[in-house]
Amino acid sequence: MKNITVIGAGTMGNGIAHVFAQSGFSVHLVDISQENLDRGLKTIETNLDRMIAREKISEADKQQTLSNITTFTDISEAVKEVELVVEAATENLDLKLKIFQQLDEAAPEKAILATNTSSISITKIASVTKRPKQVIGMHFMNPVPVMKLVEIIRGYETCDDVTKAIMTLSDKLGKIPVEVNDYPGFIANRILMPMINEAIYSLYEGVAGVREIDEVMKLGMAHPMGPLQLADFIGLDVCLSILNVLYDGFKNPKYAPCPLLVNMVVAGKKGVKSGEGFYDYSESKKAEKIAAQFSK
Ligand code: NAD
Repeated sequence: MKNITVIGAGTMGNGIAHVFAQSGFSVHLVDISQENLDRGLKTIETNLDRMIAREKISEADKQQTLSNITTFTDISEAVKEVELVVEAATENLDLKLKIFQQLDEAAPEKAILATNTSSISITKIASVTKRPKQVIGMHFMNPVPVMKLVEIIRGYETCDDVTKAIMTLSDKLGKIPVEVNDYPGFIANRILMPMINEAIYSLYEGVAGVREIDEVMKLGMAHPMGPLQLADFIGLDVCLSILNVLYDGFKNPKYAPCPLLVNMVVAGKKGVKSGEGFYDYSESKKAEKIAAQFSK
């Protein structure tokens, strides 16, 4: 494989385009507007600059990586001659089904269609195409250039050859692929989200406070970040939506989202991105933290 299209230039899409381009692939990056594409390219450039500062790559590597990326706002144009598409558009079922129908129409018959979805069924996405054997999950972790894992998810009909090709390709990107089957939450979120939910239940039931819960998991279980802080980083709305996928998919009450999580999302407290979640990320708090650092 040499020619790849990435759909979506947001948080994940620009990271995925970055790692493919840095590994020498020719990347077509697609988004709905040139503004979003420019923002994605800017992020890639900033991340490459950081790698130069850490002496991980040279200025020439940066220029080569950037020159491997071409931007598009028209999906059909962008997938005409590619061997693989990795879709990383907004997490919305109807949107993804529409995009996969478009991809199936416009991409070469042999092309593999992969999705980076965190929670939508690969089998469901594959079912709207005429090539379900060639549809697969390629679940990168955030931040993509840094995190080693790619969860490779086999849909009900994904064939062995396609799975093998995507595992080999992930190796070439310097990642570590792990193969799993397509059931709600796959493996990463099926295990992570109930842990986060249990941490929120522990807070809700008054067993311990926010910092205490996070400290126990950091110091006692060697987690680099406590579950409540991690939930803030992922986005509380995203956590709620994945828990609902698990709850609906298994029909098992053990996945029911904690009412505190539901209330926080309804109140607009979505974590880092809204400025407040279990912790306060507002500008005034940021200023306080900086002041505290300087007064030490
Ligand atoms: P994001 O909101 O940062 O980016 C999504 C991008 O998709 C936006 O730029 C949007 O304009 C674009 N888009 C929407 N409709 C499009 C269309 N029709 N054609 C082309 N582009 C379109 O979202 P994200 O966090 O990058 O998530 C993308 C996917 O990755 C989702 O499926 C999500 O579940 C998955 N994912 C996210 C994370 C994470 O930590 N953010 C981790 C793993 C997987």
